Amino acid sequence: MRDPRYDILFEPVQIGPVRTRNRFYQVPHCNGMGHVHPSAMARMRAIKAEGGWGVVCTEECEISPLSEFSPYIEARLWDKRDIPALARMCDAVHRHGSLAGVELAFNGYSAPNRTSREIPWAPSNTPVRGYDPVQARAMSRADIKQLRELHRAAALRARDAGFDIIYVYAGHDLGLPFHFLTQRNNRRTDEYGGALFNRVRLLRELIEDTRDAVGDRCAVAVRLAVDEQQGCAGLTRDSEGVEVFSMLAELPDLWDINVADWANDSVTSRFAPEGYQEAFLTGLKALTSKPVVGVGRFTSPDTMASLVRRGVLDLIGAARPSIADPFLPNKIDQGRTDEIRECIGCNVCVSGDHTSTPMRCTQNPTMGEEWRRGWHPEQVPVRRAEGRALVIGAGPAGLECARVLGARGLEVMLAEATRTLGGRVASESRLPGLASWSRVVDYRVDALSRLGNVEIYRESRLEVQDVLDIEASHVFVATGSRWRNDGLGRVLRQPLPGLENLPVFTPDDVMAGAVLPSPVVVFDDDHYYMGSVLAESLIARGVEVLYVTPAADVAPWTHNTLEQHRIQRRLLELDVTIITSHTLCSLTPYGVQAACTYTGRPRFIPAAGVLLVTSREPEQGLFDALQAEPRGVQQVIQIGDCLAPGTIAAAVYSGHRFAREFDAPPGLLRMRRELVALEDWPAP
Ligand code: ADP
Ligand code: SF4
Repeated sequence: MRDPRYDILFEPVQIGPVRTRNRFYQVPHCNGMGHVHPSAMARMRAIKAEGGWGVVCTEECEISPLSEFSPYIEARLWDKRDIPALARMCDAVHRHGSLAGVELAFNGYSAPNRTSREIPWAPSNTPVRGYDPVQARAMSRADIKQLRELHRAAALRARDAGFDIIYVYAGHDLGLPFHFLTQRNNRRTDEYGGALFNRVRLLRELIEDTRDAVGDRCAVAVRLAVDEQQGCAGLTRDSEGVEVFSMLAELPDLWDINVADWANDSVTSRFAPEGYQEAFLTGLKALTSKPVVGVGRFTSPDTMASLVRRGVLDLIGAARPSIADPFLPNKIDQGRTDEIRECIGCNVCVSGDHTSTPMRCTQNPTMGEEWRRGWHPEQVPVRRAEGRALVIGAGPAGLECARVLGARGLEVMLAEATRTLGGRVASESRLPGLASWSRVVDYRVDALSRLGNVEIYRESRLEVQDVLDIEASHVFVATGSRWRNDGLGRVLRQPLPGLENLPVFTPDDVMAGAVLPSPVVVFDDDHYYMGSVLAESLIARGVEVLYVTPAADVAPWTHNTLEQHRIQRRLLELDVTIITSHTLCSLTPYGVQAACTYTGRPRFIPAAGVLLVTSREPEQGLFDALQAEPRGVQQVIQIGDCLAPGTIAAAVYSGHRFAREFDAPPGLLRMRRELVALEDWPAP
């Protein structure tokens, strides 16, 4: 039964002409599926509605090729042919009693129009965001008129697709109305520039146009960034942010408030706690009678209820928490709050958008697979196989595998060599800023404790004979991986010469508490979080760090998780010496011999030791031995890092996938896809 403290979260809220059944609001978020994988997108959204989200929105939705977001894959409503794909989402969301929202977007200088080759529009002449060699041109009055017509027409198409809430997008320093708002982007001298009243004009007109076009049937929402978190260089809440809000307070039916840019809106847990946007939201509700939604990676129902009670928000906005657990509202409703699969704030989901691929999630391995593989986050197929399953290793892969096998009804033994469950996650979540990552373990250990058919054996390092003695029918080897200590990785394809000359350490050593000499060279050829996080950890232990990377910047893959600039800034603030574009050539007793990756010019870096963060080696000895064993078990399957070292998300996915599919007939393992429909091709 639901805890009465959370009743307030299940109250309906009137939003203009529509009414949402509760306060759970999935704000617009990208997903790497959009117009390219429309059924996958629709199914993913439908599952959130099924899981209790009262409102489920699209990602940004292009309204015209005059502003298209390629290579990023978003929704699209360029013309009426785009309606059926989005109608599919609306129908599916409606079937569960939820409202569907669409974030109409025209992104001006933030979209270089790589596909359409249209010249981007902006308030004033300006280079586009990013490094494309493209300049946006200042819009004429005729352009502004055309934009208003495009937006109006798209709103009508959105209504016809079945949407209940239609956005005017002025967020993230992406939407053109936001560009008009901000002084640094708007140098116009006409009625759309100068005083704030004029800079707000376009946003006001778009809200009015949308209301006029669809307001009888659809709610009009505005997504507004009230602060850019760059001080006086950008919009701040106290300078003009609140003023803009006040000027338009009663105009839309709903305010969706956040901060810009996206990296500030979706900060990872390494850099900000749950609820980090509250200071920007507080007080806004007093300025309007319209409902306000905001975000802050909310996963705690107490925090959510408190935000509503304290009058900060009317609706609890979520992107990532709804990705990690599409059934979060239902779990609160049913008194199952301890079953919530809490977002860990890693932003692996964001990487889907950045790499133009279907989104994935560390906590929710079914994310992005709902339609194409038919996976449901809360349901697994009943077992087809008979016999007992043995899972060896309780890292993220083994825990997830045991959880799914147990849920499928198999009798499962999970054996872990150490006392601690969680494998690499147990170690990594003790590193600076990564404490929330332990939720990967917490969720699964808790779920396993509810399954009467899964037994966990700690301090049970299994050898081949132990496995044979257990006589399990299906053995899943999830023994993980270890970091290499010879430098082999992306750049070095042979062991580093001179390893005997200097103390050499690996991330495993540091996480196990090894004492490192100072100064130490951290050689990061991994390019994700590990090198920088260990540098932080060493600094905290009083070790001087010289960070060397073959890449041009620190941890470049973290551009995909919106963290790169924060990571590099943090290392600089900690006085880490950063040496980019250099690789290691050899170790000497007095330091490392490095070379510039462009010129080959040598550079000697004095150091007392080196920490190699390069690549990992699968721990597959047990698997190989079991394969070679003539008395073998029925089925031995390698999963997770033991199969191929990767992200935690990949390990969880691997454990989930093999547990779900190991006994499926081949025909059932189809991955569905959608094909481009061919247009007429007239003879030349
Ligand atoms: P993954 O990311 O694939 O889950 P991890 O490295 O996080 O891999 O976890 C592997 C786990 O397997 C560790 O907790 C480790 O202690 C355990 N392990 C390794 N070898 C054995 C073994 N022979 N028997 C039982 N557990 C093992
Ligand atoms: Fe949260 Fe990470 Fe999943 Fe994104 S990928 S929803 S940040 S757990």
